[in-house]
Amino acid sequence: MTLGIANSKPKQQNVAEAVEKARDAYNRGVTRPVKWRLQQLKNLLRMYEENQNAMIEALRKDLRRSKMESVMLEVAYLINDLKSIIHHLEDWVKPEKPEKGFVNMLDDVVIYHDPYGVALVIGSWNYPLQLLLLPVSGAIAGGNAVIIKPSELATACAAFVAETVPKYLDNDAVIVIEGGPQETTELLKQKFDYIFFTGGTSIGKIVYEAAVKNLTPVTLELGGKSPVYIDNTADIMITTKRVLWGKFINAGQTCIAPDYILCTKETQDKFVAAAKKILQEWYGPDPQKSPDFARIINSRHFSRLQALVDASKDKIAVGGSYDANDKFIELTILTNVVASDKIMQDEIFGPILPIVPVENAYEAIKFINERDHPLVLYVFSKQKNIHTLFTEQTQSGSVNINDTIMFYAELQTVVGFREKPLVLYVFSKSDKVLSQIVDNTSSGGMCVNDTMMHLAVESLPFGGVGASGIGAYHGKKTFETFTHKKSCLIKNFSPIGEKLASGRYPPYTDGNLKM
Ligand code: NAD
Repeated sequence: MTLGIANSKPKQQNVAEAVEKARDAYNRGVTRPVKWRLQQLKNLLRMYEENQNAMIEALRKDLRRSKMESVMLEVAYLINDLKSIIHHLEDWVKPEKPEKGFVNMLDDVVIYHDPYGVALVIGSWNYPLQLLLLPVSGAIAGGNAVIIKPSELATACAAFVAETVPKYLDNDAVIVIEGGPQETTELLKQKFDYIFFTGGTSIGKIVYEAAVKNLTPVTLELGGKSPVYIDNTADIMITTKRVLWGKFINAGQTCIAPDYILCTKETQDKFVAAAKKILQEWYGPDPQKSPDFARIINSRHFSRLQALVDASKDKIAVGGSYDANDKFIELTILTNVVASDKIMQDEIFGPILPIVPVENAYEAIKFINERDHPLVLYVFSKQKNIHTLFTEQTQSGSVNINDTIMFYAELQTVVGFREKPLVLYVFSKSDKVLSQIVDNTSSGGMCVNDTMMHLAVESLPFGGVGASGIGAYHGKKTFETFTHKKSCLIKNFSPIGEKLASGRYPPYTDGNLKM
């Protein structure tokens, strides 16, 4: 092992045995006491603090991440989140006492936060530590045993987790299983009480199908194309910086990276001019030499992105070069992109940023809601050229030109065809534009006048909707995700209470009916 870890334990690789072992620990009540949970969480915190350099090094090996990005997005993020869980746990586990009505005046009405049992956490490779270990801390905080499956594509991080976790956490109740699709398929044949999956939508469906067999509840943190709408009132310099940062951090391999921009042609030109200046300042004349720009995870993903750049050659406004030997794709901005372009078909997940010109917020809304080749495309514009553009250049079943009065009614008719994004980004100084977009689009979350930063707000649950996922976590919601709210009515044997409720017993008389 090259990560400075001595005395590593043998890998626990028999999938069925591992799950059985975790279940046994859960059934023996090992994981339930709050004292055990806090001890494990403190051990996990010590693991982070004592292995910061090893984590940074593993991330450098997998993604050639800069130290700054690794600390900011994974190591410090995990440490801060875990400290908060440890700080709040004793409060969170306390049973809730909801309001009760007159009939239950003498009773106790309580909601307990029950562990589910054995949880499975499956991670992705793009933030291979944060997205794996944050839910693991939630599972432990909730009193569950947990099986951890790191992504096989981030090999150094997977090895780090497999070698380090057994040294700090209870080996009976927290078990790491390494491997790819084969091992995950084997894992999914086992019975779990909760499955928390982070990854692509197609594999998310496989996980969901497997969960259905045992009616296992799931959180699916999936992907999709997260759009950015920039209107003409936005501060273009600040907007461009915030969008570029969210897009190019981790070389665009971020589930909530801005996927594409919707704005007017006028704003598109201003954005491109600002971007050239900013990218030069950030990464210098040769971004490939910059220590701050990450690389693509593997050759398969590199080839996928290279093909997208090659297919967009006539639309490149910034960047466009690549180097297969270095898995480097230059930060690339495409202009005048249309819905039918190859780049608009799937989540990009790399450093390519297309701009789709639109006339106004209405068109942006429609574009967001009607992606994925809808049956009908509704165009709302007073300008003839916009009608022609949409008629000629979209792949919908038909085009319908309407006025804005019909807009909301028409929008409802296409609800069923939407692929809802994980995040929707809006840059505008206009409250009217914001409320139009908030009211008329559906996405996992929204971030206004910035990108990615909503993730750092502990009180905002993070998750998708529709194709971008099921469920959410972060802050207290992570604890809630891994606990079942068990509702309980506790009555006593008081004669007064019994008298109050005596009307429910037969023989029934109409006199007891109060309607
Ligand atoms: P992926 O779906 O390819 O892999 C995720 C996990 O599934 C891995 O652990 C992998 O081993 C396992 N897996 C792969 N093939 C499998 C199969 N056939 N059967 C069972 N399990 C299988 O995702 P990825 O490539 O690691 O990550 C990229 C995707 O994840 C993007 O779509 C991105 O948007 C999404 N993502 C979402 C979030 C979020 O929080 N919503 C975060 C990060 C990534």
